Amino acid sequence: MLQARPVPELPEVETTRRGLAPHLLGCRVIALDVRQPRLRWPVARALRTHLPGQRIEAIERRAKYLLVHTQPGSALLHLGMSGSLRVLPADTAPGPHDHVDWRLDSGQVLRYTDPRRFGCQLWQPRGTMHPLLAALGPEPLSEAFDGDLLWHRSRGRRAAVKLFLMDQAIVVGVGNIYASEALFAAGIHPARAAGAVSRARYVRLADEVKRILAHAITRGGTTLRDFISPDGVPGYFEQELFVYGRAGEPCRVCGAPIRAGVIGQRSTFYCPRCQR
Ligand SMILES: [Zn+2]
Repeated sequence: MLQARPVPELPEVETTRRGLAPHLLGCRVIALDVRQPRLRWPVARALRTHLPGQRIEAIERRAKYLLVHTQPGSALLHLGMSGSLRVLPADTAPGPHDHVDWRLDSGQVLRYTDPRRFGCQLWQPRGTMHPLLAALGPEPLSEAFDGDLLWHRSRGRRAAVKLFLMDQAIVVGVGNIYASEALFAAGIHPARAAGAVSRARYVRLADEVKRILAHAITRGGTTLRDFISPDGVPGYFEQELFVYGRAGEPCRVCGAPIRAGVIGQRSTFYCPRCQR
């Protein structure tokens, strides 16, 4: 039985960036081998046209996108539900889900693997912003994100605070797992109306989002060697979870059974005693 893997969230994407950077920076892309162009969107024609011949100048993360910068523009990559990227020797035989290789002048390939094909490989010309990035809120680990922002933006909103926190226009990269965990850590019930959460509790929530994401990125550091290993799937690592996926198990703080529910068609886990 294949075990369902969690969707890569911000810490996995940031770990991917850190894992790939030392192997990609300064390399020139010689050619693209696209075995399967049909990802969430087709592999961009402009990427296939402009990337070969270019040197990789920098790798940046924005929300859950990776931007691989070159002189004429940037490759915009997303891992979707099940995608991963590795740097391998060029003669490593591809498997059935290895859809795209970037052949590099280092004698290696950047290989994109994605069983469910919900990721993407798009192109952003220099000096422009891709429409996918245009409406994004601030990065959760930046100073632009804090409790005051959450409080101001939530006034008058009746949507559940968990949906509000997962809204990419409010703050990017807080997916289902980390929203559940941060709300638990802040003691806020996930179904509470966003507009009914106090300023002080939003300050606590923003701090918990930052703490939990930063800690997860630190843990991801132990997996960096996986980005140059032909086995396994890099960018995924064990999380220390308090509520997510623990329905019926005792709360690690108070012992009450963790409850599961559905908010906005997403599974939600919370402690009925610790979260109000
Ligand atoms: Zn509890």
